[in-house]
Amino acid sequence: MKVVVILSGGIDSTTLLYHLKAEGHSVFALTFDYGQRHRKELRCAASICQATNTPNQKVCLTALADVFGGNALTDHSVTIQPGRYDEQTLAVTTVPNRNMILLSVAIGKAVSLGYHAVAFGAHAGAEGHMYADCSPAFAAAMNQVAAVCDRRPIEVLAPFVNWKKADIIRRASELGVPFELTWSCYQGEDVPCGRCGTCLDRSAAFEDAGLSDPLSGQTT
Ligand SMILES: [Zn+2]
Repeated sequence: MKVVVILSGGIDSTTLLYHLKAEGHSVFALTFDYGQRHRKELRCAASICQATNTPNQKVCLTALADVFGGNALTDHSVTIQPGRYDEQTLAVTTVPNRNMILLSVAIGKAVSLGYHAVAFGAHAGAEGHMYADCSPAFAAAMNQVAAVCDRRPIEVLAPFVNWKKADIIRRASELGVPFELTWSCYQGEDVPCGRCGTCLDRSAAFEDAGLSDPLSGQTT
């Protein structure tokens, strides 16, 4: 099957790309610049495409940063508090309706390329904390709408939607995913901060998976 993958440059979407290729699918990667402060992930996504010889495109949605104001990922005046994800950190790092917007563009790309499906790296959150637009209900609803938004149905794949992050890391390890090329930290520095929700989530998942993160020794 031919699949457009939303590739952020993080572990989940990078593993998704490797996972789909291992299953024999041919993959086109879309990376979105929506004004995120953790811009290093854009460079990581480009390196991953180069390393895997994956055709790709970076889509500029920076004009949306004005629309998305008031959250820590796109509004640089909002600070990211250190600590594990909870309702408050989730709220401040939520880019409103991000996955529906990104999937809409990816579905359009799939239609224009004559591809069959789009895929995104949604997975189950730690301790019940998760973004609404990563839930199984959201993925299923997007799959339904993608089936009827063009004359030819497009499928929305979210193979990790019920997986914990540690499951993704174990799968990534089996697939030989180059963890050192991936990026998770929400702060806009060159090395991971080690304290934000996504850094702590990443290190806890590596610990659960019984593996070590090549980026863990580089924290600020
Ligand atoms: Zn961090």
